[in-house]
Amino acid sequence: SGLGKLRVAVIGAGAAGLCAARHLLSRPDTFAPPVVYEVTKNIGGTWVYEEKVGYYDNGLPIHSSMYRDLRTNIPKEVMSFPDFPFAKHLPSFVHHTEVRKYLEEYCHHFRLWDHIKFGTTVASVTPVKVKDGWNGLAWNVTSNDGLDQSKSTTERFDAVMVCNGHFYDAYIPAIPGLEKFKGTLMHSHDYRNAEPLAGKSVVLLGAGLSGLDIAMELSNVDAKVILSHGQHPLTCSLPSGVQQAPPVTSLLDDGSLEFKDGRRAKPEVFLMCTGYNFTFPFLDEKVGVKVQEHLVWPLYKFLIPPAYPSLFIVGICRAICPFPHFHIQSQFVLSVLDGSFSLPTREEMEKDIELDIAARRARGISTRHILKLDSEQWAYNDQLAQLGGFQPLPYFWSNLYESNKMFRARDMLNYKTFNYTVLSETEWAVHNFHGQQLQNPLPVEKQI
Ligand code: FAD
Repeated sequence: SGLGKLRVAVIGAGAAGLCAARHLLSRPDTFAPPVVYEVTKNIGGTWVYEEKVGYYDNGLPIHSSMYRDLRTNIPKEVMSFPDFPFAKHLPSFVHHTEVRKYLEEYCHHFRLWDHIKFGTTVASVTPVKVKDGWNGLAWNVTSNDGLDQSKSTTERFDAVMVCNGHFYDAYIPAIPGLEKFKGTLMHSHDYRNAEPLAGKSVVLLGAGLSGLDIAMELSNVDAKVILSHGQHPLTCSLPSGVQQAPPVTSLLDDGSLEFKDGRRAKPEVFLMCTGYNFTFPFLDEKVGVKVQEHLVWPLYKFLIPPAYPSLFIVGICRAICPFPHFHIQSQFVLSVLDGSFSLPTREEMEKDIELDIAARRARGISTRHILKLDSEQWAYNDQLAQLGGFQPLPYFWSNLYESNKMFRARDMLNYKTFNYTVLSETEWAVHNFHGQQLQNPLPVEKQI
């Protein structure tokens, strides 16, 4: 093709961006060392805890939604990148500081530090037609030094991996009358610890992982919590002082909240654990990637815009096991770029996306849930590995992960006290806090 080594830009030095860089660096035959752009002064994204809320001193918004006492909800045995385990001495569910350390060790081990441009914000990513680039395409990446628009630089790349995360731009649902609320209105992005809410009455909206976790923290400081959510009522035992209610539908003139069943409450705090928006403010409109109702679209294999197939948006799927997912997606991207997997034509990719979305809709999945892969992630991962011709995840991975999900559903108060041991490619064991071995809820042969 007349091309030299491919130059790839990576946007973000969170877990996804680091993983992308690790794989690009492992192939110096085909890829020039990547340039990783990172707004902050740190690697780790989500895992860089900031006590402050709001803005950094330089005026940029605080990225991380991490709270002080968070421990992971996925055991380290399957949370890790498959080629880089967490330290042996750690328990299965680690404090967030250990995850940040782990990512720093990953950076040392794979020598990523020198390739990261810290304090650099990617402001625009624009495709350009070129004569001899990858598929006739190249990318101009313009970055600023912090907020200073005047200090901008543009560099040319063959491909771009977008790894900017999607847990920082708080999503606030449009509840009629919300502006009438007279107490403290906050989003989980700005939640750090429970003490300021001790003894208070709190309506917590949303029973996702953060909602449940924060409800438990609030219960420990004797807050009176109403957990308002649209799922089926939870049947597992809830922390003390936590009641359930259906979703908040509106606010009345006196500032009280009305629930779907007509009940009302006038809490001191209204805490929204309602998730986050996707945002790609730097992406040229020409690329045609749209965000509608929490769906990022159109992307072939949730990664590639068919019209511009040297741009890759890594890590947008939800309800997944993130680090292994990034590991698989990154290798798939390499297989596309090095030609070991030939992408279908633009029309074929568009058709594939259309059929995939239609099949999900036919199963009753609404637009806002399409990116939630959940138990389908394993088939997705295996498919990418097969298409790209690289090693799939070890066999035990999905079984252990799905078992943890079942333990969590049964006993959200205690599942993080369990410890897992991987015994072989297919087998693992789990022990409770007292050291008693528990039965695997999913026999291995019935693996999903
Ligand atoms: P991020 O970690 O968000 O990193 C994105 C990076 O991109 C950031 O460093 C950001 O500064 C940078 N960036 C953004 N825009 C630009 C730009 N324009 N220019 C340059 N740089 C930019 N996962 C688990 O596996 N286990 C858990 O227990 C778990 N718990 C979680 C708890 C909470 C509260 C949250 C919010 C998430 C949790 N996750 C967990 C998911 C977690 O988000 C992923 O593990 C992972 O950190 C996502 O990595 P990422 O690289 O996609 O995004």
